[in-house]
Amino acid sequence: MKNLDLYDVVIIGGGPAGLSAGIYAMRSRLKTVLLEKYLPGGQMVLIDHIENYPGFPGGTSGLEITSRMEEQARLLGLEIISSEVQLLDLSRRDKVVHSSTGDYHTKTIIIASGATPRRLGIPNEDRLTGKGVSYCATCDGIFFKGKEIAVVGGGDSAVQDAVFLSRFASKIAIIHRRDTLRACKILQERVLKNPKITVKWNTIAVEILGKEKVEGLVIENVATGKRETLPVEGVFVLVGTDPNTEFVHGTVVTDEQGYILTNEEMQTNVPGVFAAGDCRRKSLRQLITAAADGAIAAVSAEKYIESLKQ
Ligand code: NAP
Repeated sequence: MKNLDLYDVVIIGGGPAGLSAGIYAMRSRLKTVLLEKYLPGGQMVLIDHIENYPGFPGGTSGLEITSRMEEQARLLGLEIISSEVQLLDLSRRDKVVHSSTGDYHTKTIIIASGATPRRLGIPNEDRLTGKGVSYCATCDGIFFKGKEIAVVGGGDSAVQDAVFLSRFASKIAIIHRRDTLRACKILQERVLKNPKITVKWNTIAVEILGKEKVEGLVIENVATGKRETLPVEGVFVLVGTDPNTEFVHGTVVTDEQGYILTNEEMQTNVPGVFAAGDCRRKSLRQLITAAADGAIAAVSAEKYIESLKQ
């Protein structure tokens, strides 16, 4: 399909970074379209309870913030299209975004494509995904009422979700490869005093067991090499994320993991191309920093468009 419009801004991704960029771009009266592969919200919709986003003293859900951000963007007139971006052509001043709904010609691009939960890559993980192996506690926790489960990882996601899962599960083992958790202190305190949760330190998951559904998890102590099998019915894999930047295909500079490199103005190495949120290399991946990135990227895009007129 050929779209002959020339946009000021094409935003790729509808998580907090993309929606914030959309809100700021629309307030600057830029002709903007946001392309989102699934539904708006990104990883934010997977979060059951968000309690560190300013303005919500009792906390709120990821879905609630998503629907508010989306409503705000739509009220300002942001066009949101369900579309998967395949390739970027950045060879000319007006850039082209090739997608499943056609080509979009634009003066600037804001890449806000986020990140995807990382897999462990151990035997039976893929086969048993959805049959006891999960990457989303909010989505699947309810299925583990009264059951023993394992949570793999030691970051904020693993620790926060282990506490959430203790509402349902009878017993939870956190499998962490080191002897200290990466998660922030307030979350660590909660997990360490939760009677349903134990942490298996210096331990990795090596194999998931089960024919039709998860029946156990083999873990190994990295110091001693000793293995044991936990009789769990669920394995929540929460070991971080990988950036959704395959479509970038070397058109902008990334680090070795695929995170896009930007400066403080969210500019990539290509003039007129910006990146915001979890898809860029940064030190703190949070809802608030994603939203802030989106705002900065939109303002930078506006400045760039102004500079084209001079
Ligand atoms: P993360 O901070 O990257 O932590 C990943 C955890 O998984 C680390 O403990 C890491 O171990 C472990 N890990 C990584 N690869 C592994 C592997 N192959 N096998 C076993 N363990 C492995 O990821 P995250 O917890 O998903 O958080 C992502 C971002 O979202 C972070 O910036 C985090 O702060 C943010 N977040 C914030 C909140 C909150 O503020 N409430 C909630 C969720 C997420 P090592 O520690 O040894 O590296």
